[in-house]
Amino acid sequence: MRAIVVEKFGGPEVLTLKHQPELRPSPEQLLVRVNAAGVNPVDGYIRSGNYGKLPALPYTPGMDGAGLVEAVGGQLRGYRKGQRVYLSGSLTGTYAEFCLCLPTQVHALPPQISFEEGACLGIPYATASYALFYRGGLKKGQSVLIHGATGGVGLAAVQLAKRAGLRVFATGGTESGRQLVKGHGADYVFDHNLPGYQQQILESTKGEGVSAIIEMLANVNLGRDLPLLSHGGCVVVVGSRGPVQIQPRELMTREADIRGAMILQAPPGVLARIHTDLLTGLTDGTLKPVIWAVFDLEHACDAAALQMQPGASGKVVISCTPPTA
Ligand code: NAP
Repeated sequence: MRAIVVEKFGGPEVLTLKHQPELRPSPEQLLVRVNAAGVNPVDGYIRSGNYGKLPALPYTPGMDGAGLVEAVGGQLRGYRKGQRVYLSGSLTGTYAEFCLCLPTQVHALPPQISFEEGACLGIPYATASYALFYRGGLKKGQSVLIHGATGGVGLAAVQLAKRAGLRVFATGGTESGRQLVKGHGADYVFDHNLPGYQQQILESTKGEGVSAIIEMLANVNLGRDLPLLSHGGCVVVVGSRGPVQIQPRELMTREADIRGAMILQAPPGVLARIHTDLLTGLTDGTLKPVIWAVFDLEHACDAAALQMQPGASGKVVISCTPPTA
């Protein structure tokens, strides 16, 4: 089978397409034919060698994907060859034509969701749901600022928040990105590159502030987020790329909280509930992944390079199907 292999940590150029031995599932594993793989920022952190837990080299990257069940381990029940699935993790990496998975990593993909769209679900939608409703504790009628709403997690958060009856404030760095976010349900959109935009956000809440902020770039924003919170509000830190200074008094006066959210730390029961809820939303049409660009497996390095560019408009996806003759 064809697969991307990383033999040394580095930039996108270390993503090399190779022929690899066929995979066989053990009795408690599934073999999945991967039609599309989702490209996440964490793939880039790992590939560059700048991540807490690194895989042994060589390895095949990718945690998200979607495709068809190809073979079912002898001890597993309830799966069949040809079943449409999306993946939230795998044992062998999703930037490949096939991967091995545990049953907890495999979820039903409804027919109205394409494989490319299915590849956008595992990390982004699960993270957005976990941050909004489990770490953020948000309920219908409350307000949320999705700070960085144009990317994979942000657009998922906008759709999930709107579906849950929240008032949604959102930011993007480009006009096209902000229009996209508005089209997916944000009530108010702001330019996070515009000096003083935080004042615009506060004014649009009539000075009250928001119940929670889902923060994609805490090292830049956290200090200026705190004055945007209502009494008892919280910032849920989803993304951060460095240290940041805050004024703790802003927390005291609002009796506010700062919380982290890390999808890879979510309890298994919570993850199961999140994926059940995602299936409901995908089936009834309230959730619809947004694809920014699709690259072939041969061009995985271009996909990885685009993923890190500013001006996001949804998810970068790799098509893993073999080239047609
Ligand atoms: P992405 O698709 O690359 O999107 C990045 C987002 O950050 C874009 O919306 C971008 O907006 C926005 N951004 C850029 N500058 C910003 C600023 N000054 N203020 C606010 N937002 C800004 O990445 P993603 O998959 O959505 O992930 C977002 C972050 O969460 C990443 O740091 C990722 O590593 C992290 N993450 C964490 C978890 C977890 O479990 N904790 C899970 C998934 C992702 P423009 O491009 O429009 O400027």
